Amino acid sequence: MLYFDHNATAPVTREARDAWLYATDNIHGNPSSPHAFGAAANKAMTEAREKLADCLGCHAADIIWTSGATEANNMVMNHLAHTLDAKSEVWISAIEHPCVHDSTKHFFGKRAKLIPVTHDGVVHIEWLTAEMADTRPGLVAVMAANNETGVIQPWRELLAICQAYEVPFFSDAVQWLGKLPAKGLGNCDYLSGAAHKFGGPRGVGFLKGPHKCHVRSLLFGGKQERGQRAGTENVPIILAMLVALEAREKQLDHGDHQHRAEWKEKFEKLLVRQVPGSTIVGANVPRLWNTVSALMPEGGQQRWVTRLDKAGFAVSTGSACTTGKEEPSHVLSAMGFKPNEVAHVLRFSSGWETTAADWEALEKGLVRVYAEVHHGK
Ligand code: PLP
Repeated sequence: MLYFDHNATAPVTREARDAWLYATDNIHGNPSSPHAFGAAANKAMTEAREKLADCLGCHAADIIWTSGATEANNMVMNHLAHTLDAKSEVWISAIEHPCVHDSTKHFFGKRAKLIPVTHDGVVHIEWLTAEMADTRPGLVAVMAANNETGVIQPWRELLAICQAYEVPFFSDAVQWLGKLPAKGLGNCDYLSGAAHKFGGPRGVGFLKGPHKCHVRSLLFGGKQERGQRAGTENVPIILAMLVALEAREKQLDHGDHQHRAEWKEKFEKLLVRQVPGSTIVGANVPRLWNTVSALMPEGGQQRWVTRLDKAGFAVSTGSACTTGKEEPSHVLSAMGFKPNEVAHVLRFSSGWETTAADWEALEKGLVRVYAEVHHGK
């Protein structure tokens, strides 16, 4: 069985697993406890915070550990709902993950505005600058790279525009981290990440807040994370997350992702040639080296996924978080695809362990399944 659903979640790396087990066996204390065990746990956690700050290029004190990106993203909106003035709008891109989209709607209702994207799935910078000439929102939120299409967003330019207008900028960097170098992301006012997308454990992530800002806790309880996130920190999974991220950063430093991009590009070329009528979403713009979103010419998404699953390939229809929803993908709809086109989309997302041979096998598997779908078998 070949796994092509890394954007949903990726396998835990051996190093991360070892770090996790080691810490589980050896770091028993609660980081808030006033004895040597507590101090040891706190020290390990502080070092992890410093390492993450170093990767992102920000101050360690601005990082808050969370249970993942859903929590971090909800925290941003909760914090702003309590601190912005009652008239402030929050502008988010039309392709944000449901945890950003739905929490913004929940906290801001009609004051939540969607920033449009092009047909290739890139945020309209011109729209943003034109709108900002008239109104200053309380926040602009644009993810670093999209989970469904892999399309990379111009977060550096967006951050510079927001800085010029003195508007806080938030980027959900879940799909970027571990796939492209993290340096510089720490300049965003708010930034979120989740370990399970880059080889760390599930159930751990972080929020980086504005420098010296006290982010309001979503949860009531203890004063952990300097009062910004109640609940005992899970030190072993935090340490494992950092081991995974640092290993990815090293691979990226060596340029190990570059030939992986070539394997994916070759797959895309063969796919459109071998499956007549198929197209690659966002083909004209920079995308993550691991993600392919393809509109298939026929056959419902679920039929494709089931047949590919039987043929030994785990692929997805888009976001795992929207599986089971009847509505078409909000991402592809925002890009201007019609519901009948969206109904045929498949997402293939590779990982660091995926080989050139795996991509070739997937391409051959798709051609076989296409022949079955086409002949109504
Ligand atoms: N943001 C993006 C872009 C994602 O892809 C995901 C997960 O699919 C999330 C947020 C949610 O992350 P988590 O599963 O850690 O809550």
